[in-house]
Amino acid sequence: MTIQIGGYQGARSCTGGPTQGARNLMSWWLGAYGSRGATNLGIYNCRPVSGGSVLSVHAEGRAADLGAPVGNPWSWGVMDTFRLNSQELGLQCVIHDRRIWSSIAPDWRPYSGSSPHTDHGHVELMWWAANGGLTVDRLNQVMGGGTPPPPPPPAMPVLRLGSTGDAVRRLQETLNRWYPSLPPLAVDGDFGPRTDARVRYFQGRAGLVADGIVGPATWRALGF
Ligand SMILES: [Zn+2]
Repeated sequence: MTIQIGGYQGARSCTGGPTQGARNLMSWWLGAYGSRGATNLGIYNCRPVSGGSVLSVHAEGRAADLGAPVGNPWSWGVMDTFRLNSQELGLQCVIHDRRIWSSIAPDWRPYSGSSPHTDHGHVELMWWAANGGLTVDRLNQVMGGGTPPPPPPPAMPVLRLGSTGDAVRRLQETLNRWYPSLPPLAVDGDFGPRTDARVRYFQGRAGLVADGIVGPATWRALGF
């Protein structure tokens, strides 16, 4: 169980069809989760990333769009298991439900692209995996063949003035990304008066009650 770090392979040209590895991933997905509503939303597509000019990895047939019913309780766990085993599976990017993981960093980040990816997981393969390294057997071995996926990660904790720790650090980083033109908050994991003021500022502009308490609605508005 290892997260792939580095080695991201962008798309260079339209290659004409899906790769074997992406086809294997799709057939594993349909076999393992078809009874829960999993669908095939496509592999090969000669197009740029939606809303951009960079060529999508779909253009090399190395990305699969794994369809899943909106709001289901299980696909998030599968996507996180992809991330956690990305080195063994040869995966370089997963996008699902407003979050993205790619091999430039170990953790999920908020995804702000034009599609929220609530009805599918976009999963990209590195070339070795696309060229057949990713087999159904390998997926069954690493992921389990439709065994219940792990529970979703714990919800982000409620934070307020005086809170400390990693979640506060993520909050501070995120607020700094939201407001690059404001003086940056120190990413120190310490929810002090400056962080409190920035949270209230964010909440006011997001149409939330500006109470400085970072609960589920504020986390969601921040992109988590
Ligand atoms: Zn996609």
